[in-house]
Amino acid sequence: MKVIAHPDEAHAQISHWRNSGARIGLVPTMGALHEGHLTLAKRSKAECDYTVVTIFVNPTQFGPNEDLSRYPRTLEADLAGLRDVQVDMVFTPTPEMLYPAGFSTYVEPPASANPLEGQCRPGHFRGVTTVVMKLFQILPATIAYFGQKDYQQLTVIKRMVEDLNVPIRVEGCPTIRESDGLAMSSRNRYLDAEQRQRALSLWHALQAAKQLYESGERNVHILEQAMARELLQRGAEKIDYARVVDSQTLETIDTIDDEAVALIACFVGKTRLIDNLVLSNSDSH
Ligand code: AMP
Repeated sequence: MKVIAHPDEAHAQISHWRNSGARIGLVPTMGALHEGHLTLAKRSKAECDYTVVTIFVNPTQFGPNEDLSRYPRTLEADLAGLRDVQVDMVFTPTPEMLYPAGFSTYVEPPASANPLEGQCRPGHFRGVTTVVMKLFQILPATIAYFGQKDYQQLTVIKRMVEDLNVPIRVEGCPTIRESDGLAMSSRNRYLDAEQRQRALSLWHALQAAKQLYESGERNVHILEQAMARELLQRGAEKIDYARVVDSQTLETIDTIDDEAVALIACFVGKTRLIDNLVLSNSDSH
């Protein structure tokens, strides 16, 4: 497994592989890897000839009062996990390599970045679209894999790729959960035992929405009220949002006609957690 920090060196390696006609799979991450990340890498391994995982805690997607400095960094354990999965290359640039002095060009995110996370974390998606575009330039892969865990991020990136004619296919992968339903997340490491229990409130709230949906309820406000009630009863402390929106555009709806998605962001202690569930008739989620 090659571990490469320098963008030029990583680009040269990928270009070499691509010129031989190989399919390259790309899995961008911020490290502190868990089974969710490894599942993306395994999917890439199954579908591509070479798999590249990036580990970069991207400063431009963190707000001034967010957890950039305390975000978990576990490089050695991450590399061991990726070696087990037999990833071909890990790209580990430093912030100075991606944002050298004088850096000043950003990618303006699409409209789907405006609600939800966009409201609570101003500038977040501008940082995401910018770094993902940079990674796509440095590592011109065939397919890029992203998790549905970050549903809005996936929606934003799909739109960006389409709008800017980026020649990379974006694949969304299902959320990997702990056995009790908690979505795996690098930020779960912040939770103590009591908070870990309260973190399950997100899963229970999504299940409450799903049950109402399956019993025929299509009024979005009733679903949202049920989610908020469940979150607070089970110990979530501050709800940033608990919404049901159009699953494609993330626009506000009153009634579910087509497919919708329930999305939650809330705090447990100082830890901000997000999760989501697609509400559709096909029941593939
Ligand atoms: P992160 O390192 O948290 O920025 O995540 C890197 C990638 O892994 C993103 O595409 C995430 O959506 C994805 N991811 C994170 N957690 C999970 C999970 N529990 N299941 C599936 N994918 C995930």
